[in-house]
Amino acid sequence: MKKILLLVCIIPLFYISVFADTVPAGYKNAAVSAKNLNASVYWDPLAGNGILQKNGHQISFRAGESVVLLDYLNLLIVDPPIFSNNVLYFSDSLLKAAEDLFSTQNNDANFRVGAILIDPGHGGKDPGAVASHTIGGKKTSIQEKDIALTTALELHSLLSASYPDKKILLTRSTDIYLSLEQRVDIANSVNLQDNEAVIYVSIHANAAFDKKAGGYEVWYLSPGYRRSVLSDSGVDKDLLPILNSMMEEEYTTESILIAKFILEGMDTQIGKQMVNRGIKEEEWFVVRNAHMPSVLVELGFITNSQDAALLNDKIYLRKTALGIYNGLGAFITHFEQSRGFTGTR
Ligand SMILES: [Zn+2]
Repeated sequence: MKKILLLVCIIPLFYISVFADTVPAGYKNAAVSAKNLNASVYWDPLAGNGILQKNGHQISFRAGESVVLLDYLNLLIVDPPIFSNNVLYFSDSLLKAAEDLFSTQNNDANFRVGAILIDPGHGGKDPGAVASHTIGGKKTSIQEKDIALTTALELHSLLSASYPDKKILLTRSTDIYLSLEQRVDIANSVNLQDNEAVIYVSIHANAAFDKKAGGYEVWYLSPGYRRSVLSDSGVDKDLLPILNSMMEEEYTTESILIAKFILEGMDTQIGKQMVNRGIKEEEWFVVRNAHMPSVLVELGFITNSQDAALLNDKIYLRKTALGIYNGLGAFITHFEQSRGFTGTR
């Protein structure tokens, strides 16, 4: 259960208009030129960040900013991308840099998900949301911490069986209390190779005053939150905020994709039994301090009698875990093939 939220909406991250009026001299429509290069362009108009990617290479850019980041490693100065009248334009110098980068051999082709950290919410003295219902004629008390743990253990065993070469980790495997800071420390201390990344999946259940509120949903980190994902490693200090927001953009892109895949996986398994409330965004503590793509799954509302009856059923929770597992599997396949990950360098 999280605190009550204001209405949020999904950023139209993948939308760029191709309807240009006047193209500035030395510039080309970004969507059209990406298509000509056979590359993909991701653009968040609200944050003003984007990524141009192909062949496992990527250029991170900001509108109006002449510094671009190549493969999250090298900086280059080009004529800055322009976002005007809802149209994104790339300069000829940026497109030339993209062509050069995309034609080089990608030495990072073996980039992979090295670890998945599953975080069952609450535990021990912190039960999370609690509710009491009559299920099958019996008065039953339901606690969020138990539902989260049961689902997390199922997910852990499914992932462990399928990915013996990856670290499949749990922040807790028993009914113990962990502070949010302890969860962040666990997340940030996962040991990885240079070519490996970690995904963080937190599992919770919801509660509401409105007993009719029901359904499952998946959250990702709001792109509005500025994290420091790059440390100062000899880079010009003035550039750090720019670089950080470029890195953050990539984590957000990945987090949205993970959320989307997990939601699809859950929908296939349990969509006929429980309401699908969709993908949401928020700034929540554990994820905003964990430097990795991260999602939070809310399994359902324990204050809703129909949801509660399902969440109290171990077979239903197993199906839910299978849905999350299938979603993560689809994401892993997608990203290990495209090397779309930020990495930990
Ligand atoms: Zn919770």
